[in-house]
Amino acid sequence: MLRLEIIETDITRLAVDAIVNAANESLLGGGGVDGAIHRAAGPELLAECRTLHGCPTGQARLTRGYKLPVRYVIHTVGPIWHGGNQGEPALLASCYRESLALAEQHGLQTIAFPAISCGVYGYPLDQAARIAVDTVAAHLQTSRNLQKVYLVCFGAATLAAYRQALSDCANLPPPSC
Ligand code: ADP
Repeated sequence: MLRLEIIETDITRLAVDAIVNAANESLLGGGGVDGAIHRAAGPELLAECRTLHGCPTGQARLTRGYKLPVRYVIHTVGPIWHGGNQGEPALLASCYRESLALAEQHGLQTIAFPAISCGVYGYPLDQAARIAVDTVAAHLQTSRNLQKVYLVCFGAATLAAYRQALSDCANLPPPSC
């Protein structure tokens, strides 16, 4: 079974155990996927986020999902792209790892990620897609709980980058990807 799946959809419509939010360090909402998640979840999500007092880049925090069709939202803060020499790859990989670690701690079976940092934070799509696919695939090699990880694309360019990254990654032995 392919436990890593690339799909093109609005992440707020997915009924999974948790969706991941590409948040900013304040955790107090923003544009892009962050805005869409807060709009769909309702104001109680922002109220819970206020109690968390922010989140450093590369880390992740968990809240309830409120009006979303999910139990949890995992908020992670991707790096802003500054050219690639300021730790961006390690920080982006950390976002995926930390989010997956929270999912494991809570016994989740299904999780969906947006393309973290690929919007206003400006991370080059091909490089970000490779990190997303490789990091999730590596995690799935040892995970027992997670049945499905969706990498959600919003638009054709993102979908193409992810498909390429997955086909490059298909050299890895199953069941990782
Ligand atoms: P960041 O600040 O981390 O770059 P953005 O929200 O600007 O975050 O963009 C991250 C990615 O999320 C982009 O690829 C963007 O196209 C995508 N995105 C925006 N809205 C949605 C949505 N409703 N569902 C899934 N992905 C979305």
